[in-house]
Amino acid sequence: DRVALKRALISVSDKTGVVEFAAALAAQGVELVSTGGTRKAIADAGVPVIDVSVITGFPEIMDGRVKTLHPKVHGGLLAVRDDPEHAAALAAHGIPTFDLVVIDLYPFEKTVASGAVGQAVIETIDIGGPAMIRASAKNHAYASIVVDPADYAGVLAEIGAHDGATTAAFRRRLAAKAFSRTAAYDAAISRWMTDVVAAEALAANPAAEPETPKWRAFGGELVQAMRYGENPHQPAAFYRSAPSRAGVATARQVQGKALSYNNLNDTDAAYELVAEFPPAAGAAVAIIKHANPCGVGQGGSILEAYHRALACDPVSAFGGIVALNSTLDAEAAARIVEVFTEVIIAPAATDEAIAIVGAKKNLRLLIAGSLPDPREQGLTVKSLAGGLLVQGRDNAVIDDLDLKVVTKRAPTAAELADLKFAWKVVKHVKSNAIVYAKNGATVGIGAGQMSRVDSARIAAWKAADAAKAAGLDGSPTIGSVVASDAFFPFADGLLAAVDAGATAVIQPGGSMRDAEVIAAADEAGLAMIFTGVRHFRH
Ligand code: 5GP
Repeated sequence: DRVALKRALISVSDKTGVVEFAAALAAQGVELVSTGGTRKAIADAGVPVIDVSVITGFPEIMDGRVKTLHPKVHGGLLAVRDDPEHAAALAAHGIPTFDLVVIDLYPFEKTVASGAVGQAVIETIDIGGPAMIRASAKNHAYASIVVDPADYAGVLAEIGAHDGATTAAFRRRLAAKAFSRTAAYDAAISRWMTDVVAAEALAANPAAEPETPKWRAFGGELVQAMRYGENPHQPAAFYRSAPSRAGVATARQVQGKALSYNNLNDTDAAYELVAEFPPAAGAAVAIIKHANPCGVGQGGSILEAYHRALACDPVSAFGGIVALNSTLDAEAAARIVEVFTEVIIAPAATDEAIAIVGAKKNLRLLIAGSLPDPREQGLTVKSLAGGLLVQGRDNAVIDDLDLKVVTKRAPTAAELADLKFAWKVVKHVKSNAIVYAKNGATVGIGAGQMSRVDSARIAAWKAADAAKAAGLDGSPTIGSVVASDAFFPFADGLLAAVDAGATAVIQPGGSMRDAEVIAAADEAGLAMIFTGVRHFRH
């Protein structure tokens, strides 16, 4: 899988470091071929270099718009050298191959950023450069493709370590980076051109609805344009990601009104949550409002799980999203449709259940086929003013964690089961998050407060309220367990849980005052587990 580096094609807009790099390559006996400006820079430094027009037998024309776009260049970039027909074509037409291609594209992004408009920007759309990058990256079985001056040193180190050759793994890494470069470059062009067209349309007709592009430069293909976004004055659309290891959104809408932006956002939150509960371990149902759960329950059947989820906060469940970890059956469907519900999502549904939901024309039913894998790596993306924040998906799963009992008392088996249940839920509650659970169901959820103590109080207060509404004596948080998505910075948050009647706690640990918090737990006779993992969610 090694390829000896014998000939390089260099064509760079930014000449930084290229002369030194070219000289180092030439010193190793590498033959250099270059385009006009690059060739001049290298030759001026006294390094031997051939002009690409010598190979093409054709001059650069049209102000450089056409310089390397020629079969004598692209034949060499694309040839499968081990294929006898390709090799014969190379020989018949006198086409040289390149083992290294070094491209720095016309500075489109910088030109736009400088405030340039119109033709000045268009002139910096590189055509031959991306063509050479993509050809070489496709043909990484033979060629190394460099698109970043920061990689010059790496190429020299690679051939230094491998007797003048490159390894397949090295070329694959460069190819992946090269495709990312052309994708980002084209994304920049696409955004600019889309903006130009949108501005023109707005100028021509300020009242017209903006058009929803079929493709978006972040690699998405349009699935659905919505009437509006989070609020009626915001345009919105749903784009499915380009397929990758992490897969694509698969859910199919069986019936109901068109999904709104908020529906999709909340449905995703609901389904990701319920996917934490493997169907083999029992039925689970999550009810979501505004991307936060208002109840999660496990049970022997979907109906039982739904009842237990609903009991946590039946008032908030009105107009909620219901997510199931297993097949929607008739008995559960019949009960769910009695409560005003926006969306039901499940991996599957029986025909009978579909017919029951069908009686509610507006109720949206989504069949996903499968559950998302909580351990999937993936990326999550959030926009901020003028940019994107990207992070790895929160794929920590409690069954993989090293749980430590930090109190004198260890949790009982029943407490431990509820602690794990509560931890799976708290991962999907906006921070600061506090979740009370008992017997495989949430009994109180505190979400999204700026103070952890407030979240603990709200969770206990909501639980007491639900109990009162159901005509129960005392709060269901008595004898419950509690999960906190991040550590308790002081003992007060823990003491609020003690006041609510919790007997066991699960939290990441890691506070400066852990000792104080553990002492307070011991004092109250609590069992406490540290997970070592935090689940902030914003
Ligand atoms: P140079 O300064 O060497 O004359 O030009 C280098 C630049 O030309 C690089 O940014 C490279 O991507 C670009 N380039 C190379 N071949 C072509 C081509 O055939 N057409 C266009 N538009 N750009 C090219």
